[in-house]
Amino acid sequence: MKHHDILIVGSGVIGTTLANSLKSDDLSIGIIDSVASPKFSKRHLSINSNSLNFLKKLDLWHLIKPNAFPYETIKVWDQEGSGFIEFNSKDTERENLGHIVCEGDIQKFALSALDEKQISFYWENNLEEVKKESSEIICRTSEDIISCSILIGCDGISSSVRNLAKFKSRSWSYNQTAIVANFKSNQIDSTIKQTFTKVGPLALLPINKEELTMIWSIDDEYAFEFLQKGEEEFIQSIYSHFGEEIGDLSFSSVRQSFPLNHLSSKTFAKNGVFLLGDAAHQIHPLAGLGLNAGIGDVICLSELINAESSLDFDKIAKAYNRKRIPINLALAASMEAFKRGFENKNIWVRLLRNTAFKVANDIAPLKKRFMQLATEL
Ligand SMILES: Cc1cc2nc3c(=O)[nH]c(=O)nc-3n(C[C@H](O)[C@H](O)[C@H](O)COP(=O)(O)OP(=O)(O)OC[C@H]3O[C@@H](n4cnc5c(N)ncnc54)[C@H](O)[C@@H]3O)c2cc1C
Repeated sequence: MKHHDILIVGSGVIGTTLANSLKSDDLSIGIIDSVASPKFSKRHLSINSNSLNFLKKLDLWHLIKPNAFPYETIKVWDQEGSGFIEFNSKDTERENLGHIVCEGDIQKFALSALDEKQISFYWENNLEEVKKESSEIICRTSEDIISCSILIGCDGISSSVRNLAKFKSRSWSYNQTAIVANFKSNQIDSTIKQTFTKVGPLALLPINKEELTMIWSIDDEYAFEFLQKGEEEFIQSIYSHFGEEIGDLSFSSVRQSFPLNHLSSKTFAKNGVFLLGDAAHQIHPLAGLGLNAGIGDVICLSELINAESSLDFDKIAKAYNRKRIPINLALAASMEAFKRGFENKNIWVRLLRNTAFKVANDIAPLKKRFMQLATEL
């Protein structure tokens, strides 16, 4: 039977950056994934300065940077009241608030950097069984049996590691589907714009000087209708729902759709098994923080493992749970409050929300606190 000190399940951004950040000279590391070869996500997403600094430390940022787009401002408003909030890099004494990158780029460069490390890959190995036997964890995949001292689930929202190792979790559907597509536009600036339309939040993020990416989280009752629209009709829907001048749009990618769920594992580590990224927590994409939160997990766990000469997983698990559960719960709670506040049909809640937004927009310390949470993940 093959054995690894650490077995990582999942070769997405979280699994591959984790493998890059562990001291592979001292540890035997294996990565398994159910796909036959890596599937590079075409989704563009925003990364914060914490994630960027980590990618710099892994010597990956200089490879990603040529296709990354810095943004300086985030504007959020609703279509019905006068709720409006703006975050500007000037308020934070930073050059920018973050970058828009292609998720597949991070994964691609993180994977090729692993060529220089002693890592064993097991492609087309679907994890099917996890058994704890004294100090070892025995993993049966569709192809192999592999034992390890530490098993790390980076296998996304439907995590087999989480399910097979019997982690309890809370999850529910947001009853929304995110429709994602890229557009050519003649009016690009360094601003992320997000508005709460009557069918759900619509965000436009600049990805380069000519293109932007759209994430429109549409209530499930309307999502199918929007997915069926022809290209011109869909673009007309953006113009009419967005309510602000956005220039001429034309599709530069196909539309993709993602069902949106909330998930929060009750614990992130136990009995030598650890959960990171979407396997441990998934939130609504409206704040663009899911991957950033996952990278926060990677930074934390890799530091804990690298600092230990013996793999004392109980000690590592305690520290990991203590550090990562509270910050992820705080993030999930604020996302929930934000989303529910916007969806509320009650006039008083709407009024309060709009007032709160106006107040937040005027009070620098409150805005700074929001930004801190978004960059400290
Ligand atoms: C519409 C949308 C927009 C988003 N925008 C942002 C944003 O702007 N900023 C941000 O920070 N985040 C954003 N996110 C969140 C971000 O995309 C996710 O947090 C991130 O992709 C999770 O990465 P991961 O590596 O944890 O999981 P995944 O990318 O899902 O990788 C999981 C891997 O595990 C493998 N796997 C699964 N099951 C098994 C098994 N049984 N055996 C072996 N292998 C297995 C899979 O093949 C896959 O390779 C967005 C999400 C959505 C849906």
